[in-house]
Amino acid sequence: MHYISTRNTKKKSSFREVFLNALSPDGGLYIPKEIPVFSSKELEELSKLSYKDLAGNIIFKFCSEEFSEKEVREIVENSYKNFRNENVVCLKKYDQNYLLELFHGPTLAFKDIAMQIIGNMYQKIIKKKNNTINIVVATSGDTGSAAIDALKGKNKINIFVLHPKGKTSDIQRKLMTTVNDKNVFNIAVNGNFDDCQTLVKSMFTDIEFKNTVNMSGVNSINWARIISQIVYFFYAYFQVINKEEKKINFSVPTGNFGDIYAGYIAKKMGLPINKLIIATNQNDILKRAINQGEYKIENVIETISPSMDIQVASNFERLIFNTNLKNDQDIIEKMKNLKNKKYFKIDKNQLNKIKVDFIAESISEKETEKYIYDFYDKYKYILDPHTAVAYGVLNKVSCEGTNIVLCTAHPSKFPKAISKVLGIQPKLPDNLCNIMNEKENYDIVDNNLFKIKNYILSKI
Ligand SMILES: *Cc1c(COP(=O)(O)O)cnc(C)c1O
Repeated sequence: MHYISTRNTKKKSSFREVFLNALSPDGGLYIPKEIPVFSSKELEELSKLSYKDLAGNIIFKFCSEEFSEKEVREIVENSYKNFRNENVVCLKKYDQNYLLELFHGPTLAFKDIAMQIIGNMYQKIIKKKNNTINIVVATSGDTGSAAIDALKGKNKINIFVLHPKGKTSDIQRKLMTTVNDKNVFNIAVNGNFDDCQTLVKSMFTDIEFKNTVNMSGVNSINWARIISQIVYFFYAYFQVINKEEKKINFSVPTGNFGDIYAGYIAKKMGLPINKLIIATNQNDILKRAINQGEYKIENVIETISPSMDIQVASNFERLIFNTNLKNDQDIIEKMKNLKNKKYFKIDKNQLNKIKVDFIAESISEKETEKYIYDFYDKYKYILDPHTAVAYGVLNKVSCEGTNIVLCTAHPSKFPKAISKVLGIQPKLPDNLCNIMNEKENYDIVDNNLFKIKNYILSKI
């Protein structure tokens, strides 16, 4: 399988390049030239597999030039051995809707599912290479802790995590900053998440700097994260379709558009998902883009679902590419407009294509709190604020069939929001109950590309 860039369809890249570069040197995102499609007979076979066997099958499709089937199986096995659930995820039914819990990994958010795979892929690839890799990543809270857990203590890998100072929850920060391994560096940036993401993107497109530090990335633009996330759309679909003879929709709490884009790829691979529901908080750029045809950056609003406080949804570039007949020149034009004028337009034709697969809706803070309250009142189950957004939008959209809501974080990661609404503190899993008392390690750096680069250079 070859990969191309959304901004250059002529140049071919291997899985290893895609994995290590994360962002293509032309600033575009990598995408497979052809997406593999399963026949209905193959889908039937896949539906009988355990989560881990399914993961092995799906992930192998995308990286068979780099890893043998056996290696992929080892990667999967190692990645999920510390999860609190044998089948990685957990599906629960409440009235007509299903909740798909994705937070049973070490740092309590769905990002562990992909990040652990990435960590183990690095380890295998690095054995075939000589020099130390420096991973630089921006986080709004959950990516950072997941990446640190997946990479801490690994040989010949350093990890630098940029988080927006004071804008993550205390537990999110603690999960990052209390890790003591020598290869972990936390940077609190005086800015918001979009600033962090812009800094990281600038370093990736500065080829000289990137080569000097042998830089690599694990942000949600890394294709390996997408392929690891495709798996649970298949798994959940197979579980539910056995019980419900209906159309199946997924409601996904969305920020950078990585998770829901994995659902889209699952559909392109032949999984007959009905609709993918893009659920956002008040940072609703995706809703405005899809409903009005203008992708326009506005100021970021801080909410109780901070991992979705994003205006530039990086992976959306991939969808734009998939729905414009893979026209790289059009992407370059649109991204130039985004940079210079803070918006680009999507024409009617393309919007209609997007609407075949997607519905976009957002809810307010008040509504989010109401859904956390109501759900607990009814079922004694605590929705984390991100999940509550995805559950809440179901009441605003109309689409046929059964809904699966992706539960992206454990509620104990957001105790302030939960205790404000419910008056109770959600309990942390046992192995994390001391974390609030542990010593933190991080450095504060200005929102300044030069200073961030110097910081990284001084540590390697
Ligand atoms: C990262 C994150 C999201 C958003 O996922 P994207 O792939 O960026 O759209 C939603 N909820 C939680 C809890 C997250 O950590």
